[in-house]
This record gives sequence, C-alpha cells and structure tokens, in this order.
Amino acid sequence: MIYKETLKIHSIESFGTHDGPGVRLVVFLQGCNIKCLYCQNADTIPTTGGTEYHISEIVQRAVNQKGYFGSKGGVTISGGEPLLQSKAVIELFKLLQSKGIHTNIDTNGTIVNTYSKELISNVADLVMFDIKHITESGFEQITGKQLYKQLFELIRLREESEKPFWLRYVLIPGYTDSVEQLTKVGEYFNDYKNIARFQILPYHKLGQYKWEQLGEKYRFANVPENTAEQINAAKQVLERYFDFVVG
Ligand code: SF4
Repeated sequence: MIYKETLKIHSIESFGTHDGPGVRLVVFLQGCNIKCLYCQNADTIPTTGGTEYHISEIVQRAVNQKGYFGSKGGVTISGGEPLLQSKAVIELFKLLQSKGIHTNIDTNGTIVNTYSKELISNVADLVMFDIKHITESGFEQITGKQLYKQLFELIRLREESEKPFWLRYVLIPGYTDSVEQLTKVGEYFNDYKNIARFQILPYHKLGQYKWEQLGEKYRFANVPENTAEQINAAKQVLERYFDFVVG
C-alpha cells in the first residue's frame, strides 16, 4: 500500500551506529530551519533539493533490514531538521511501530507546532535533542536564530511525557566547553528524570569541505578540535549531574 505522505530526503544510511541505540537505518532529511556555524552536513540545510520518498518505501527498507536491528536498533530520522516534516514523520513512525520497529528522532528542537509537539511528546520512542548552547546569546551566535526558548520548551514537553530522551552537546573549544557553561547545563536539567543519556559530541571539521562546495565560508576554520583531555574534563563536570554520560 502506498501512503500519501512523502518525505524530502537527503540521503539514507543503512547500518548507522552513531545516531541512536544499536544498528539503525538512518534517514537524513533535506532542509534545516537554522544554520549552525559548524554544521557538518551543510548540504542538508537548503530546503530546496532532496528526493521525495513515499513513507511506505522507508517502511519497506526498514522491514527488509529488521533482522540487523537486534533488540536495540531501529530507525532514526535525522537531518537537516526532521521537525520541518513532522506530519509525515508521525505517519512514518506509527507505521514502523506497527511493525515492531523502534523509532528515534535527532532534532534541534526549535520548531514548535501541533505536529512537532505530537511527535515529541506522544509518538517517537526516543528523541535526541541537540543542545547548541546553554545561553540565549550563545545559541543565537551559533545558530543565527533566536529559537532558544523553543528548544527548551520542547525538551520540557518530552520530560513531561515521561518518555526517554537523550541530550547531545557538541563540545566546541572556546564556545561551549567552559566549566561554567557545562555546570549551567547540569544545573538546568537537575530535576529532569527521563534523560537516558548525555552524549558529548566531539567537535570536528570533517564537513568543512561541504561549505566550500556550497560556495560559503566555513567560519569555524580556526577553531581547534578537542583534545582527549578536554573531553574527559567535560565528562567529569557533567557526570556530577547526569547518570549516563558518554563522550
Ligand atoms: S541543526 Fe543540524 S543540520 Fe541544522 S544547521 Fe545545525 S547542525 Fe546543521
């Protein structure tokens, strides 16, 4: 059966191991509502382009490889920004769940509307929120948008749903890695009970060439990548607040 909902997709990774628990089919959607200075997938930002897929095609692919998912894996919708296409993602997730497949969304959490709220609070089995910065001004500096409050509103909504979620945090030397900022992150989420994992994402420049291909300047060219010591130091601060910190 073909469902009428379609998704605009940038690319699909069949056996992803970095975007959620276990082995996953990872679907990168085309289009993002913000523009992070360090975006490693800058080619997914434009809302034009991408390839339209009926959601039934994605369900079929997931069913075909279900044997590889094991007890933990499943499907992750990443981007770009999945919440731009929340309505179709809801339909997709319900179909996947009816086939016993775990669903996960990797989001910047900054689009608040009826569909995104439904997806975040009622539908997705897991949500991974990217926290760009813990201060309003830092968030705007990195993303170019004043959408800080929207992110924390959606995280609160997920917490209230009492379903698990992960927080992901890119550790950018000189931007997000001070003890003060990390402490603030920990304190902000002190009373949250449904954070299943805090994931430190080391800053890297593997996507720099994509900015150049798009004819744009990569503005973090002079920001160094993290040392192992910096990652460990951040982990130690965050472990005071979160039960399961990985870095
Ligand atoms: S939210 Fe993700 S896809 Fe969008 S600009 Fe930022 S890093 Fe890139």
